[in-house]
Amino acid sequence: MTQQHYRITLLPGDGIGPEIMTVAVEVLKVVGEQLNLHFEFQQALIGGAAIDATGEPLPDETMEMCLKSDAVLLAAIGGYKWDTLPRHLRPETGLLGLRAGLGLFANLRPAKILPQLIDASSLKREVVEGVDIMVVRELTGGIYFGQPRGIFTTETGDRRGVNTMAYTETEIDRIGRVAFETAQKRSGKLCSVDKANVLEVSQLWRDRITQLAPEYPDVELSHMYVDNAAMQLLRWPKQFDTIVTGNLFGDILSDAAAMLTGSIGMLPSASLGAANPGVFEPVHGSAPDIAGQDKANPLAQVLSAAMMLRYGLNQPTAADRIEQAVLQVLDRGDRTGDIMSPGMNLLGCHAMGNALIEVLEQLATSVI
Ligand code: NAD
Repeated sequence: MTQQHYRITLLPGDGIGPEIMTVAVEVLKVVGEQLNLHFEFQQALIGGAAIDATGEPLPDETMEMCLKSDAVLLAAIGGYKWDTLPRHLRPETGLLGLRAGLGLFANLRPAKILPQLIDASSLKREVVEGVDIMVVRELTGGIYFGQPRGIFTTETGDRRGVNTMAYTETEIDRIGRVAFETAQKRSGKLCSVDKANVLEVSQLWRDRITQLAPEYPDVELSHMYVDNAAMQLLRWPKQFDTIVTGNLFGDILSDAAAMLTGSIGMLPSASLGAANPGVFEPVHGSAPDIAGQDKANPLAQVLSAAMMLRYGLNQPTAADRIEQAVLQVLDRGDRTGDIMSPGMNLLGCHAMGNALIEVLEQLATSVI
């Protein structure tokens, strides 16, 4: 079997980023050896770490390195230290620039309840048992990018903050297609979320998504206003399979969906474009409150590496192997603090990485 070679750009970023990235890289190396995949890792700066080293949150060098790679594995950016900088110098600006520069218009965020962690959810067992949702969020348009934007001073001297929520038909159609195709690969149910009762931009959104539907006769399409969707996610989340929505609504709803599963430390995401490499990253932030203390849960980062193998590099067997290892580690009762429950084994970030590698080695011998 010829060895597959992949160039992966690693962006550890800030806070717990470097700790969880170390675990993901170790896991990838082991799986690569087992399945004859060769990963060439190259590391670059983004976010606060890049600001400290170069004065910019997304140095040109980082962007070039990402463009020349097969996939980008990102940890998290941000922290208190950089919170007071002007907006163009904030870590988040680096992240938005990376997404825009790579044309990553589709963000896939799975929120799946793992049976081992059902009691980590703040909702009742009967409400969350079996929840398996995929939020498809538009990522490069909408209010986070619309013009005009800024804080202006009116003629009367009153300051006025402005952002613009805008979508073109082309932008809606391309995210709509990703969502219909995702729903086809899942249970065939798609719910489009908007605020069409108030916003013209949402009326266009609903109109275009509805017009795409006949191309996907095997997908059952429904529409929901965003305020109702927020309520329904907490009331009866099992009614949802695939959700498609714009950038702002998707940001909020995917975090709400994330919490159904109990810990934000378990959730990966994939950001995909038309041509460039995808970016794979955990849903959570840089957790500055626990950074450097070996307390972070590395599993969302490791599952992001699995999503990278599945959606970015078309290596589903390697992705399955990693996902299986995560489930087995949880079956053994290994837990980091954020998902800890009585009677389980409390592990730090590093020890959780070792546990994964132990299980991966067992999995390889059981396959042979
Ligand atoms: P956060 O996700 O960093 O943390 C929220 C809470 O969850 C904290 O209590 C944290 O300790 C905990 N947590 C998060 N990830 C964890 C993990 N892997 N293991 C264990 N516990 C974990 O969100 P926040 O506190 O709102 O933001 C902190 C910083 O992260 C801010 O600067 C923010 O801008 C940034 N941020 C970055 C991203 C990103 O890089 N994509 C996303 C969200 C927030």
